Amino acid sequence: MVATPGLDQPVTVVSGISTAYQGRLRRLGVETLRDFLLLYPRKHKDLSQVTPVAQLQPGEETTVRGRVTGVSLEKTSRRNFTLTRATLIDEGGGVLPLVWFNQPWVRGRLPVDEEVYVAGEIAWRRGPVMENPEYEPAAGVPRNAARIVPIYPLTEGLTSRWLRNKVQELLPLAGQLEEFLPAEIRSRRSMPDRATAVREVHFPESWASLEAARRRLAFEEMFLMQLGAQREKRARQQKAAEAIPFDQPAARAFVSALPFKLTDAQRVAAWQILQDLSRPMPMNRLLEGDVGSGKTVVAAMAMHHTAQAGFQSVLLAPTEILARQHADVVESILRPFGISVGLLLGSTPPGQRPPLLAALEDGSLPIVIGTHALIEEGVQFARLALTVVDEQHRFGVAQRAAIRAKSRRVPHFLSMTATPIPRTLAKTAFADLDISVIDEMPEGRKPVSTRLVPPAGRPQAYEFIRGQVAAGRQVFVVCPLIQESDKLGVRSASQEVEKLRLQVFPDLASRIGLLHGRLKSAEKEAVMDRFARGELAILVATSVVEVGVDIPNASVMMIEDADRFGLAQLHQFRGRVGRGPHQSFCFIFTELEDRETVERLEALVSHQSGFELAEIDLRLRGFGDLYGTLQHGHRLTLEDLLDTALIKDAQDEVGRLLDRDPALRGEPALRHRLAEFRRVFALD
Ligand code: ADP
Ligand code: MG
Repeated sequence: MVATPGLDQPVTVVSGISTAYQGRLRRLGVETLRDFLLLYPRKHKDLSQVTPVAQLQPGEETTVRGRVTGVSLEKTSRRNFTLTRATLIDEGGGVLPLVWFNQPWVRGRLPVDEEVYVAGEIAWRRGPVMENPEYEPAAGVPRNAARIVPIYPLTEGLTSRWLRNKVQELLPLAGQLEEFLPAEIRSRRSMPDRATAVREVHFPESWASLEAARRRLAFEEMFLMQLGAQREKRARQQKAAEAIPFDQPAARAFVSALPFKLTDAQRVAAWQILQDLSRPMPMNRLLEGDVGSGKTVVAAMAMHHTAQAGFQSVLLAPTEILARQHADVVESILRPFGISVGLLLGSTPPGQRPPLLAALEDGSLPIVIGTHALIEEGVQFARLALTVVDEQHRFGVAQRAAIRAKSRRVPHFLSMTATPIPRTLAKTAFADLDISVIDEMPEGRKPVSTRLVPPAGRPQAYEFIRGQVAAGRQVFVVCPLIQESDKLGVRSASQEVEKLRLQVFPDLASRIGLLHGRLKSAEKEAVMDRFARGELAILVATSVVEVGVDIPNASVMMIEDADRFGLAQLHQFRGRVGRGPHQSFCFIFTELEDRETVERLEALVSHQSGFELAEIDLRLRGFGDLYGTLQHGHRLTLEDLLDTALIKDAQDEVGRLLDRDPALRGEPALRHRLAEFRRVFALD
C-alpha cells in the first residue's frame, strides 16, 4: 500500500512499483498517484454474470466459480511455447478445462484448493473450454472477474491485470481528488462528485453508474476547455486595438487592381475580416481554405487596408520558401498602391537588417513578411495593427505567444490554414476563434486526378511521368525521410534521387533535383529557383514542399510510402499540383497492403475536399499533429469531442457561470484547475 497519502507523490511510493514500472507508466502519461487515478480505462468488459458450468454457451463472456485442480505446464514442440492447463470443478460438479498459452507463471499464481473465479470467453471443443481466462480468489474484492471489469490502455510490460490491482489499491485515495465543478452545476445536471465518478469509472457498480461517471468526467474536460476559451474571448474583447475604418473606395481599388475576380467565398471572408478590423477590439480570426483557394490575396487585402489607414502589418510564414513566395505575391499586388513590403528571414545578411528594422521602428515600412526570425529579432513596430500568421500550427507554442506579444496595443490577429478544423472542434478547443472559410476554388481549376498505384503499376507510372516531362510539365516526388532508415524501410529522398538519376530517368539525370529540410536556406532557395524556372523537371523532396509552394507548371505529384502521412498532409502535397491550366495527377504509392491502409488512402482518390479528408482523418487516426497539444492534455475521447449535446451543455454552463462570476472569485478550486489545464493545453 501507499506509505503516506498525497496525490502528488510519484507512483514509486506504491509497493510493488519499481523504477522499471515507473518508466512503463510514464509512457501512459502517469507520473503521480493523481495521474494514476486519472488513467481511465479504455473500455469495460461485462464479466459480472456468474454461470454454472452446465449452462455455459459457446462464445459467451462470463465468470465461473469453482475449485481448480490438476495444474500442469507443458512445453510444446514449437520452441518457447508453453501451455498451462488446469481443470475447474464447480459446485454442481461441472468440469471446465482451462488453458493459458505462454503464461507459464500462471501455474505458480493460480490459487488451488480454494474457491476461485475464472472469467473469459467460452470456446467449445466438444464441451466448454476457457482460454487465457482471468482468475482470482473468490474471497477478496473482485477485480478481474465477477464484475464489470476495466480494460486499460496498454503499453509494453503493463497488463490490464496489473493495472487493475494497482488502481484498486489506490482507489481509497480518490477522496482526495479536488472537486472543482461548482456544486450548483453538479446538482442541476445531477452529476456524481469527482471522487465517486473516478471510482466508478474504474470499477463500476453497474453500467448505469459507469455511464453517469463517464458523462461527468467528459463534461468536466469539455467544461474546462470551454471555460478557458470563453474567458480568453471575454478578456480579449476588453482590450483595445486600433480600429481600422472600413474604406469602401480602398476596397474597390484593391479588388479592381487584381488580375482576377475574387471568388464569392473570398469576398465573404475579406468582408468579415475588414469588419473585425474596423472594431476597436482585437480580431482573433482563423481563415480556413483548401490549398490554392486563395487565402493570401484575402490577407493582402487586410494588409492593404491597414497600410492605407497608416498602420503596419506583419505576415509570418513557417518556412523561408513560403515567406519569399508570400512576399513576391503581396508585393506585386500592392506595388500599384505604392505600398512597400519588407522581407526578413533567418538568412537575411546582417548588413541588410538595420535599415529594415529602423524602417519598422519609425513606421516608414508598412508591411514586413518573414519567418520566426522576425520574432527572435528584437523587432519594434511604431504602429503595428495587424499580425497575419500562415499555418500557425507549425509554430511552437512559445513562438505563438511571442507573436502576440509583439506590440503594446494588441494587434488584430489573423491566422490562415489549409488544414481545416472540424466544426465541432472549432466550437470547443478553438472556441475563442472566429472562423472564416473559403470553401470554393477559383474558377477553372480541374480536380487533380488521383490514383493509388499498386507496386506492379510503378513502371507505368514512370512512363507516364516521362510523357508529362516530354510535354514540358514538371513533377514532384515526395518521400518521408531524408536518410536511409533500414528499420523503417522508408524510401529516403536522397536514395530516391539516386535511383531516379541512375536507373529510371538516366536521360533526365541533370534535371532531377533534391529538396529537404536539412539543406541550408540558400541551397533550398537555389533548388526552388531552378525548379520554378523549369530547369529541373523532377523535384524529389521531403515534406518541406507540403505547404504553399506554388509552381503552376507542375502537373504530377508522386508520393512514396504514403501510408506514413496523414490524409490532411497528403492532401496538402496534392495541392502542390493542379495550380495551373494543365490537367494534373497525383500518384500514391505504398508497400502496405492491409485493408485499413488501403481504405484510408483510397479516401484521397474519392475525395477532393480537404475538409472532408480532415474529418475522415480525425475519425480514423485521432488528432495527429495538428491537435498535438490537444491530444496531450486531455482525456476526452473522440466521440466526446464530437458530441454536440455535451458541447452545448458545457457551453451553456460556462456562459451562465461567467455571467454570474466572471473572475471566478467564488470558485477557487476551479480557478486552480483551470490554470493547470491551460498550462498543459497552451492553445491560443
Ligand atoms: P492558398 O489558399 O493555398 O494560400 P494562394 O493564396 O497561394 O492559395 O492562391 C493560389 C493561387 O491562386 C495563387 O496563384 C493566386 O494568385 C491564385 N488566385 C487566388 N485567388 C484567385 C481567384 N479568385 N481567381 C483566380 N486565381 C486566384
Ligand atoms: Mg498559402
